[in-house]
Amino acid sequence: MAKTAVITGSSRGIGAAVALRLAKDGCNIALNDINEGMFENNDIVDKIRALGVEAEIFCADVSKHDECESMVKAIKERFGTIDVLVNNAGITRDGLMARMPEEQYDLVIAVNQKSVFNMMKFGGNVMMRQKHGKIINLASVAGLYGNPGQINYSASKAAIIGMTKTAAKELGSRGVNVNAVAPGFIKTPMTDKLTEEQKAKMLEMIAMKRYGEVEEIAGVISFLASDDASYVTGQVIEISGGLSM
Ligand code: NAP
Repeated sequence: MAKTAVITGSSRGIGAAVALRLAKDGCNIALNDINEGMFENNDIVDKIRALGVEAEIFCADVSKHDECESMVKAIKERFGTIDVLVNNAGITRDGLMARMPEEQYDLVIAVNQKSVFNMMKFGGNVMMRQKHGKIINLASVAGLYGNPGQINYSASKAAIIGMTKTAAKELGSRGVNVNAVAPGFIKTPMTDKLTEEQKAKMLEMIAMKRYGEVEEIAGVISFLASDDASYVTGQVIEISGGLSM
């Protein structure tokens, strides 16, 4: 029977690449975005169905506990199982700490961090009952090393690393693996927003002297979602072209 993979924030960027890759691996795909409009003029659903697996869109704001509960229930009803959960949805609202309004801090924490609690709680409950499942959370190098102008974002991503390890310990005995990936600078609409100066500065620090492609994140997530990663849990895999060396 085909596995079912849920990928939050999957209308574009890394999420869409992960959805496509897991579909190529043979999974049925539950796509999610806060905004149904994001799937209009977007061929991701067609591309996934062309691979011979099923694809369905489930709109929800993953920062909202009750919306995640309803979405997980709807996905379970539609597909029968949830085998892979990729917590990918995320935003940036950058600014220096000294001038950052409280709402700007709270929004990023809610969308990036609370969403992971919401989805791991409800998705993890399904997986525990099934006695198997793979959860992969999107952290960031900002959560490992910090980044000026990203006090909110780096806090949310560092928290995701702690949450990944905690969930791995809570769910491990039930056959559920929980891991995180920490991408560096990947070409997506999120990083398009950076200034040329910021991009050039980043490039200087990368050993491989190039930015990452979304497919390079999807490949590692595909491994973590596969049976080959059956004894890997509570780990954070940095995918940054050697940013930290
Ligand atoms: P992106 O292109 O901005 O895509 C993020 C997706 O999340 C969008 O489709 C967005 O939808 C969706 N989203 C935002 N808020 C949501 C909510 N409340 N509920 C449901 N969906 C929501 O970002 P990306 O670059 O692909 O990044 C994906 C993940 O990787 C994020 O967690 C990010 O922090 C992480 N990451 C990225 C990089 C990088 O270099 N790109 C580096 C490290 C980590 P809307 O467009 O409708 O808002």
